[in-house]
Amino acid sequence: MSYNPYDNVLATVEKAAELLGYAPEDYEAVKYPERELSVSVPVRMDDGGVRVFQGFRIQHSTVRGPAKGGIRYHQNVNKDEVKALAAWMTFKCAVVDIPYGGGKGGIVVDPSTLSIAELQRLTRRFTTMIAPIIGPDRDIPAPDVGTNAEVMGWVMDTYSMLNGHAIPAVVTGKPLQLGGSQGRGEATGRGVMLNTLYICEKLGIAIQNATVAVQGMGNVGSVSARLLYEQGAKVVAVSDVSGGIYKAEGLNIPAICQYLSKRGNLLSGYEEAGMTRINNEELLTSDVTVLIPAALENQIDAQNAGRIRAKVIVEGANGPTTIEADDILEKNGVVLVPDILANAGGVVVSYFEWVQNLQALEWEEQDVNDKLAKNMRKAFDSVYAIAEKKKTTLRMGAYLIALKRVVEATQFRGIWP
Ligand code: GLU
Repeated sequence: MSYNPYDNVLATVEKAAELLGYAPEDYEAVKYPERELSVSVPVRMDDGGVRVFQGFRIQHSTVRGPAKGGIRYHQNVNKDEVKALAAWMTFKCAVVDIPYGGGKGGIVVDPSTLSIAELQRLTRRFTTMIAPIIGPDRDIPAPDVGTNAEVMGWVMDTYSMLNGHAIPAVVTGKPLQLGGSQGRGEATGRGVMLNTLYICEKLGIAIQNATVAVQGMGNVGSVSARLLYEQGAKVVAVSDVSGGIYKAEGLNIPAICQYLSKRGNLLSGYEEAGMTRINNEELLTSDVTVLIPAALENQIDAQNAGRIRAKVIVEGANGPTTIEADDILEKNGVVLVPDILANAGGVVVSYFEWVQNLQALEWEEQDVNDKLAKNMRKAFDSVYAIAEKKKTTLRMGAYLIALKRVVEATQFRGIWP
């Protein structure tokens, strides 16, 4: 049976609703995305030909505010994945208590196979095709896997051109020159680092004694690795699509990050004295204190969950753990800080960016980082406290808080008409 991440979402919601004592009508609406838009995006390629790319923008919920969430460019993007990612955004924004619903976009494309000019034309045409449903008070995109600040700049320009004036608040994660926020580029990794510190503190693990393995060295993985290295943790294993590397004494993370920024983002050619090459499975099951999956969904599943040796998992990616794996990890005493909390730093600073844009203000980086840390600490503590009280996992704790906020907002608004 093929894996459908949206089933994962529904199963988690059902479990949380039961623990909250909700009747089916209390949370019926949250089981369905409010609006799904599919688009076929024609692009003039550099060779003169035309290719048509499939794209989606799905708004899971706008109950607590405008939809919010990234745009993913990846060859395996599909509608069920985007639906799940949109729903996770709803719960993520609710758990950190920012005034947004959840949405997500995606295009089925391997961006590394397109030229910059083709990527720009694809982005501009896609933006035009989703323009009827996005906007600063409707749905605000941001970067995700395969997209970055430059792509967000094209989204901002295209939407602004269609409307005849600059509208920076339509998208977050923009270049600083276009109203991007200080600290946004690092924010997701910073949130992962903070959540790692908080959970280690709760478990009585000094960060200097912790070893870390990171799956995925994109924006989230590389910033998480670097910030944890700076906190004194020993990052012993990292990987990307080209494979992984391991060094028991700890890898030189700054050197790796520098290498990645220069060499087309692939680890495969990197060398360091004392390191060995490992595969993805070896990375996930390495004997470390903290495992940070920061790649894609469905990485820790029923097959490998029983072999995970990490004490703690901090989910940098969205949906890296299947629901079957969750049960195995819980039985084995592996503590897991869930995606909707652990990787929420990105959308929290996206919120700060949007707030700055709406007021035409610019905050300093320290100010942004302090506000982020304050938000993360509060969210982490409330999730930890409810999980303890209800004797459940941190994932369930996060969903109890998030679902309650979404359901109560729905009840106050009422089902119109
Ligand atoms: N794509 C990121 C996420 O999954 C950020 C979304 C945003 O900033 O809106 O949380």
